[in-house]
Amino acid sequence: EKVKEQYAAGRPLSLELYREACRFLPGGDTRTATFFLPYPNFIEKGNGPYLYDVDGHKLLDFQNNYTSLIHGHGHRPTVEAVQKQISLGSAFTAPFEAQLRLARLLTERFPGLELVRFANSGTEANMHALRIARAFTGKSKIIKTEGGYHGTTDVFEASVDPNIKKAGSLDQIKVIPESRGVSANALKDVLVVPFNDIERTRTVIEENYKETACLIIEPIMGSAGQITPTKEYLTFLRDVTRQYNIVLIFDEVVTGRLSLGGAQKFYGVTPDLTTLGKIIGGGTPVGAFGGKREIMELYDPRRKKMYHSGTFNGNAVTMAAGLAAMECYDQDAVDHVNGLGRLFAEEVRNIYHRLGLNMKVSGEGSIYNILFTDKEVRNYRDVAASHEELNKLLYMLLLTKGVFNAERGMFCMSTAMEEADVRFGLQQVETALTQMLPVI
Ligand code: PLP
Repeated sequence: EKVKEQYAAGRPLSLELYREACRFLPGGDTRTATFFLPYPNFIEKGNGPYLYDVDGHKLLDFQNNYTSLIHGHGHRPTVEAVQKQISLGSAFTAPFEAQLRLARLLTERFPGLELVRFANSGTEANMHALRIARAFTGKSKIIKTEGGYHGTTDVFEASVDPNIKKAGSLDQIKVIPESRGVSANALKDVLVVPFNDIERTRTVIEENYKETACLIIEPIMGSAGQITPTKEYLTFLRDVTRQYNIVLIFDEVVTGRLSLGGAQKFYGVTPDLTTLGKIIGGGTPVGAFGGKREIMELYDPRRKKMYHSGTFNGNAVTMAAGLAAMECYDQDAVDHVNGLGRLFAEEVRNIYHRLGLNMKVSGEGSIYNILFTDKEVRNYRDVAASHEELNKLLYMLLLTKGVFNAERGMFCMSTAMEEADVRFGLQQVETALTQMLPVI
């Protein structure tokens, strides 16, 4: 409470705007994930690795709009591409070249992408991937992991962040709706398996393959706490889904940044379908889904098998922004952010050691999570046991020290950062954890 008071005392203008916003928007915003107590700080602008709030605080941004801003804020080539494009028109009911160029870049980089289509969000991309998997296999069930996040729509809002006391045993995981209003009928199509658990996943597949259209997975579970896969698990999924005619979907909305060709290239496992979002829009709303030609061709209008449209699909501004951002995200840029990420993780471990804390840091590449647990982390339940309240306290303390991360303990690097920025962030983490020692 004391830390909340300290935070609030420095943010009178945010409080004013928050009260005003609550008159027109439930909770003062349109994203549940941006809310925290006592009230969120309103942001005035971003520049490079920094955010500036309306109360005059400068914050080093380890959030990067939930990992979507690979180049931080106001990336020059992206800004110029958007300015140029918007003056020439922002959306046309016709195809145009920038879309083709972004599609070519993505299919050249991601081993699993032969054909690709664009959408407006990662949620939408996953909805369409699911639909085409159903169309292709003639089956309707979906297998997902406990703790796996694939966006905000009925079937995917199953067992994303369940109370593990109510979620049954790992041998028979109960499907739990994430939100009120999720269709109970839709959830009848969903089966949930534990991440990284070959035997239990195999059992669910063998018992249900006749009705199962797809298995969707984040190769690294992001919102669950940056839980990394074993290579054996991903390879097993590849083999078993092939054996049982189940479409394997990698949701690479977040992991798309792990290498030039995402997690599939990094781990050397190629799915049937891939969904993308976040960084490929250069900071504008985007989603993409694609994969094997024989599957994606169902969308070819000449074949009239499936319908997929959307007023802003592949719109000119997003395509221009995405193309500029992705062209700049070359191998050097990947090495830069992943290098910063690994430095971050290594130094966080050194901090734990200096403070005598038996804690974990999870993740890979440029995204990591501080975990208040001493357990080995293989699946959602291992992380769910870590302390949510402590992560919230760390988040609030860091905000008062000029560092913005995600409330759940996530830290994400951008190419706008240099080593000195990361080291500044680490210093603040050490000071905050030192202050927290009496309660950890
Ligand atoms: N899939 C994953 C792995 C995500 O992390 C997210 C968003 O955080 C989504 C899908 C949904 O993307 P969007 O928020 O663009 O709908």
